[in-house]
Amino acid sequence: MQETDSPPSISDPTLHQLAHPENGDSSPLRTLCADLHAKIEAFLQEDVKTEILKSVQSQCRHSLSIISEALEKYPLTSLSLSYNGGKDCLLLLLLYLSLLSTHPHLPPSLPAILIPPAHPFPTVDAFIQKTSSHYHLSLSRYTAPSPSGMKAAFASYLAHNPSIQAIFVGTRRTDPHGGELKPFEMTDRGWPSFMRVHPVLEWRYSEVWAFLRWMGVEYCELYERGFTSLGGTNDTVPNPRLSLEGAEGRYWPAWMLEDEGEERAGRIGGGG
Ligand code: ATP
Repeated sequence: MQETDSPPSISDPTLHQLAHPENGDSSPLRTLCADLHAKIEAFLQEDVKTEILKSVQSQCRHSLSIISEALEKYPLTSLSLSYNGGKDCLLLLLLYLSLLSTHPHLPPSLPAILIPPAHPFPTVDAFIQKTSSHYHLSLSRYTAPSPSGMKAAFASYLAHNPSIQAIFVGTRRTDPHGGELKPFEMTDRGWPSFMRVHPVLEWRYSEVWAFLRWMGVEYCELYERGFTSLGGTNDTVPNPRLSLEGAEGRYWPAWMLEDEGEERAGRIGGGG
């Protein structure tokens, strides 16, 4: 079931005033991509001193190569992003946008899909609204008819957006279903058919945070309040490992979590 959001659909012919950098394109999306590109390039060129930032640089290069490959294989009009406002898809979005800075044909906004949890956090919802607008996402929301209704939601999305062939997903290796994934992987049998592209599969928890904090971008406020992975209000609490001793109900921010294996300790039932 689709709810409305922003979408000027990418397939809307009135929106096909294609952007060319060489034609002096200064559309808001082009400008944003160029700014992100400059920032990420500067980071990649920097002689960083810490091991963590060195590994973040190499993760960035690897992820960018996967996104580039996706852009070579698929026209931009057939690509979408699975976006729920979480830290991993935010990281992915920043890298994706930076690579689009030189893309010859940028639309006004980029397709994305959100399948909201049954009991969303208003804070997460507000963050999604704000970032969809800031990053020029044309976000379609598809409500899953049941907790296991992701398939139906994706099927509706693809039925309404038949040009979409591949979807970027911010899954990492340590996520519940991340263990065996490859960077390019068709959906499993029984699922609506599309290519899942996983550019940030190999990022570690601490690397994600090092990158987001280095970029100085806004991330969902719940992470500042001890949440380390975001689900719905019925199945997500602040991570107990971040509880501030002697200050009941107060937590360290997500990026302070030392034991990366505990990332989902605040997800009741594991969030998978
Ligand atoms: P966090 O783990 O902190 O919540 P995240 O939401 O980015 O960050 P996961 O929850 O592990 O990461 O989900 C992995 C990826 O799957 C996301 O980055 C996003 O691309 C996709 N995804 C997960 N849930 C949804 C959803 N409800 N709607 C759209 N995409 C989703």
